[in-house]
Amino acid sequence: MKQKNFFELNFKDLKNFLIKELAVEEKKVSMRSKQIWQSVYKKGSFEINNLTTFPLELRNKLNRLMSLQRPKIANTQTSNDGTIKWLIKLFDGNEVECVYIPEKTRATLCISSQVGCTLNCKFCHTGTQRLVKNLSYAEIVNQVMIAKEQINDWDEKKKITNIVLMGMGEPFYNYENVKTAVEILKDKEGLNYGPKKITVSTAGIANKIPDAANEIGTYLALSLHAPTDDIREMIMPINKKFKIKDLIKQCKYYSSVVKEKITLEYVMLRDINDSIECAKQLVKLMAQFPCKINLIEFNPWPGVQYLPTERNKIEKFGKVIQEAGYVATIRRSRGQDILGACGQLRTESEKKKNI
Ligand code: SF4
Repeated sequence: MKQKNFFELNFKDLKNFLIKELAVEEKKVSMRSKQIWQSVYKKGSFEINNLTTFPLELRNKLNRLMSLQRPKIANTQTSNDGTIKWLIKLFDGNEVECVYIPEKTRATLCISSQVGCTLNCKFCHTGTQRLVKNLSYAEIVNQVMIAKEQINDWDEKKKITNIVLMGMGEPFYNYENVKTAVEILKDKEGLNYGPKKITVSTAGIANKIPDAANEIGTYLALSLHAPTDDIREMIMPINKKFKIKDLIKQCKYYSSVVKEKITLEYVMLRDINDSIECAKQLVKLMAQFPCKINLIEFNPWPGVQYLPTERNKIEKFGKVIQEAGYVATIRRSRGQDILGACGQLRTESEKKKNI
């Protein structure tokens, strides 16, 4: 019999597996499932033989029927600023990137939800890579497991304090897998990341935002990047389908359910979206729902047609928003030297042609 990979099971599936394949008694199945779940997700133990809470016979059986294999790291790059980018080779040979960004008091792990992306945002390197596939929830969660293993992050006090789904791909175009992955990340018996420690970022798939409010419930980041439909459409083709007013309506709903501000992401592109007029338009837009904004320094990548806005101009832009009473933070670029910064991720995976 082919071994079942543990990471392809959510907690409910795991219980069913133990009953069906290992003949664990119903009254003990919750306890046994918890023992495996905690040993893997809380303690980072990847050896079934270490599961000493299991009777030997059961452990041997589990060893035969289940594997704890994880995808392997194909490449590691460490930036001068401490940012680490891992290229992960999935079991099917596709590659995906995740980035660890340590700061003074916290560290964020940026993970991917797809290999490639369909949305083709003009300033984003990932957008130049055709969508290869949606990641399974196991592949999403395993990015976190691999990162934790690399930096030995299994103590009660976590090194990776925050997780953001802002890597490759549009999370809401892989909604079900993202939802299950977030459930696993949040599970108190396992990885135990609270909903306010996770941010899901969308390029603006407006019709999925209400579902996410009710079913995912983490922080939400909206990649806005322009104050008007005209500019947005030029740099983000998805705006042809979902206009800014749809996004505002759905974000209003999201923040009313989750009771948190929406984070707007705004990459500063020279002479495209960085005028004082744009800042004033943004202020009007921000008045319509609870939100704050991150102004992001643009990270050029080979072949891109845009230039970064100068730092002093970003500051002036931010001041207009701040003086209107809103939070505007300028986000320093991290991991730029290893193409690990926002919008720079891209792998060589190509969609296999149907033969
Ligand atoms: S910014 Fe996000 S949604 Fe847009 S192309 Fe890049 S990965 Fe896709």
